[in-house]
Amino acid sequence: TPILIWFRRDLRLSDHPALHAVCATGRPVIPVFILDTQYDALGAAPKFRMGLGIGHFAEVLSAQGSRLILRKSAKALDGLQELIKETGAETVYWTRQYDPDAVTRDSAVKAALKEQGIEARSFGGHLMFEPWSVQTKTGGYYKVFTPFWRTVKIRDVEAPLPAPRSLTAPESWPASDDLADWQMGAAMQRGAEVVRPFVQLGEQAAQSRLGVFLSDKVSDYNENRDLPAVDGTSNLSENLALGEISPHQCWHAGQRAFHEGKAGAEVFLKELVWREFAYHLMHHTPRILTHNWREEWAGFDWNEDERRSEVRAWKQGRTGIPFVDAAMREMYVTGRMHNRGRMIVASYLTKHLLCHWRIGQKWFEDCLIDWDPAANAMGWQWSAGSGPDASPYFRVFNPVTQLEKFDKGHAYADRWIAENNAAPHQDALAYFDAIPKQWGMAPENSYPKPVVDVSEGRKRALMAYENKGF
Ligand code: FAD
Repeated sequence: TPILIWFRRDLRLSDHPALHAVCATGRPVIPVFILDTQYDALGAAPKFRMGLGIGHFAEVLSAQGSRLILRKSAKALDGLQELIKETGAETVYWTRQYDPDAVTRDSAVKAALKEQGIEARSFGGHLMFEPWSVQTKTGGYYKVFTPFWRTVKIRDVEAPLPAPRSLTAPESWPASDDLADWQMGAAMQRGAEVVRPFVQLGEQAAQSRLGVFLSDKVSDYNENRDLPAVDGTSNLSENLALGEISPHQCWHAGQRAFHEGKAGAEVFLKELVWREFAYHLMHHTPRILTHNWREEWAGFDWNEDERRSEVRAWKQGRTGIPFVDAAMREMYVTGRMHNRGRMIVASYLTKHLLCHWRIGQKWFEDCLIDWDPAANAMGWQWSAGSGPDASPYFRVFNPVTQLEKFDKGHAYADRWIAENNAAPHQDALAYFDAIPKQWGMAPENSYPKPVVDVSEGRKRALMAYENKGF
């Protein structure tokens, strides 16, 4: 009988423990993707990107003589049960996911299938270190990055598995939905074609990104990773989010570079472990996704009204603060934002504007093609000061001096801001082509005045903290 392999955020053939186990049985394999409520409700850009990833992976499987069977079903369990009935499969394998909704769903699926006498097994692969496998000396979980890093950096990480040589096809294929009918890009207000040129899709592209990074960029990574005008990082977050590459593959390649003495390799390894740390925290304290992680922040008077004009200005990249606006526009056009930009815009929203980090978290979830529930929540709470290992709440980034420091020649600001520029960059203009007319912005307008003055905003934030007794 065939085995169902249920793909989710693991759209690759190599280093895929579940697929490896399936192929080792020698039995026919039926790869499946189910669009359930969880994936159907994704933010616009992550959903669009997931659609592209699925389409590409289906082509890769076809080239192997296999297929990706697509089903839409509010509950994944129902979709799986239908397929079990139609194909006679008695086994379902998948790669574990760690966000609370996926854990609830997958546990229920496993229990229900087992009760039916179906073998249901989950495998690792999305993370190098299972969140429960990393413990402090007293058996707790880590709340601070550095000791987490010290503990895991000396661990052995499994060597990546090769891609299966072939996937045995079943005697007959069950019916599949047509991906186009799922309209995965439909919620992209800015039009899917705006972001598409910036996407690098699939396993092969991810491997070549890793290769290019380690041959050309890693030696300067320590300096360049902070410069938003320089393409100095791996850009792998987009691929890691959908499992088009595994962290193990990145780790082992990074380790090789480290042992070759390449500067920057260790910091890259550390960044990969930040991703693991985010998952560690999400597993042990799932409230990080929805509530202030530091309990003493519970009563902090964040502004939660999204209709406020400052929030709109922040989302629309017209706060009058060039670093903030450049980064927000970069995200709108490319679906990505440089890490320094993410820190700056998050600090500005939560500190200068005293808005709830959840507003930013949600907007990022709508706009980022590399959206990751754990990294996004940790990044926002870190920036806001309410999270674990946070930037101290009293440290308010000054977005003006930050720009002077990290974008000396203003190449980044110029790339994204067209106003008051006689010869605007094509990307800066692409932004104006992408935004809805009703935002009322035009490149020939003059650049807006700050919605909140930088030093005023800082003072206001510090006062709010003081009033709270911090
Ligand atoms: P590189 O510098 O090449 O790093 C390699 C990999 O390490 C990344 O691909 C990523 O998987 C991991 N990594 C690096 N920095 C971090 C970090 N701070 N936290 C967790 N993992 C990290 N990252 C996402 O992948 N998805 C998100 O939704 C996301 N939201 C964020 C929101 C905020 C407010 C902040 C401050 C950070 C956020 N990050 C997020 C983390 C970071 O900005 C991105 O991972 C990074 O910019 C991706 O670029 P890169 O792949 O070139 O990274």
